[in-house]
Amino acid sequence: MANCHVVFFPFTAYGHMIPMADMAVLFASRGLQTTIITTPTNASRFSKSIQKTINYHHQIALHIIPFKVEEVGLPPGTGNPDQGVADEFLSSFFEAISMLQEPVEQFIQESHPNCIIADMFYPWTTEIATKFKIPRIVFNGTGLFPQCVAEAVGRYDHAKNVSSDSELFIVPNLPHETKLTRKQLPHFEAETFKGFLKVLVQAMEAEMKSYGVIFNSFYELEPEYVHHFREVMNRKAWHMGPVSLCNKNTEDNSERGQKSAIDEHECLKWLEPRAPDSVVYVSFGTIVKVTRAQVYEIAMGLEACNQHFIWVIKKEHEQWLPEGFEARTKENGKGLIIKGWAPQVLILDHESVGGFVTHCGWNSVLEGVTGGVAMVAWPVMAEQFYNAKLVTDVLQIGVPIGDVEWSATSSCGGVKREAIEKAVARIMGAEEGEGMRRRSQVLKEKARTAVEEGGSSYSDLTAFIQDIKTFKSK
Ligand code: UDP
Repeated sequence: MANCHVVFFPFTAYGHMIPMADMAVLFASRGLQTTIITTPTNASRFSKSIQKTINYHHQIALHIIPFKVEEVGLPPGTGNPDQGVADEFLSSFFEAISMLQEPVEQFIQESHPNCIIADMFYPWTTEIATKFKIPRIVFNGTGLFPQCVAEAVGRYDHAKNVSSDSELFIVPNLPHETKLTRKQLPHFEAETFKGFLKVLVQAMEAEMKSYGVIFNSFYELEPEYVHHFREVMNRKAWHMGPVSLCNKNTEDNSERGQKSAIDEHECLKWLEPRAPDSVVYVSFGTIVKVTRAQVYEIAMGLEACNQHFIWVIKKEHEQWLPEGFEARTKENGKGLIIKGWAPQVLILDHESVGGFVTHCGWNSVLEGVTGGVAMVAWPVMAEQFYNAKLVTDVLQIGVPIGDVEWSATSSCGGVKREAIEKAVARIMGAEEGEGMRRRSQVLKEKARTAVEEGGSSYSDLTAFIQDIKTFKSK
């Protein structure tokens, strides 16, 4: 059979680009011809992935298409959705995104791939795929549990049955009893989200018409939801994660997405002398905006709980730290503050790290699992509240931070130092924390087995390849 060519077209946000780049490495490692379509400003982010495939028979190719941000009034060089302040920025950004359709179509016409794996935010790739009679596979950067919850929340609308935004309602027809409040649901009804909501609706409609959905997840993490998605929701799905496990060495793990703000060896040197499971890692991913007051409260909470910690903050937030905080933590060896990009997977995989305070972005949740840590689930936006339920209620490998509410501005704020101290003490503590870590460690082992030859993710990738190779004859 002629070789199979798979085209990846990742959305330009880190939480989508990073796992798709790893996925492309996985496909290349299985001998498939692989191309990533991206924009000029994001191209360099994939160079590491290309290097990783140098020993494989088929190297990843990059196809760069112009991103005409100036035409929609955005500053030259804009490349990612987190570079601007919400609303008008997002509308213009998605307008520029829609202009990618033409160059993508031209590339598909010229290169005749076997399939295109395109992000949910490119709904029009389904039309392109139909036109050229190839399958379009959707990647939406999340797991099966959150997808199933989101579908059931939308379909049954039980949120309307409760009398207040903070009263719990049961999301019906799911394998586990899942309770949410209206405060935790995404709400895009505001006028400012009009443009974005339109994109989301188009994304959902396109997903229904697409050939299937590909997940960065593994069967053993959420088996009931793999069945639910396939059999109850009647959708084609493949899970091939955790894709971060395709990174085998320190260098690969420390440079996913960006070069780290800290030298990886310096980071490991700081971790090395700490006792196993004694360090808590705190990070809110790439999009969430931590308010000034919240930065202050996190610092005070971390200081109060007296645990070793690694905390990732934005470079520009350094000035928001309490007076003398950094000097104190440096002097007593309690904390390491990383200002900018952290080598997250490297840190979570270190045996000294036992806890993770996370905003519950899907990649972070999965990386927490592959690190075998207990988590404080502190969701902020997007589908993070659903991911948090998986962590706390279904897998029981974490505790909730408390009464937080979905933020339309991606802002993280309002949690007091006492709540932070209490939650960190729970996950790092002897009894409760140990139990959560034990369960997480079991999943960590299952994750590793899943991606090995014969494992569930490895086999699903084999099935996927077989499926697209025979697509034409169907
Ligand atoms: N990440 C990282 N270092 C950082 C911040 C983020 O390596 O300092 C990576 C992280 O490991 C994950 C991705 O960026 O793979 C963030 O994705 P996630 O879904 O967790 O959150 P998002 O940023 O999309 O909200």
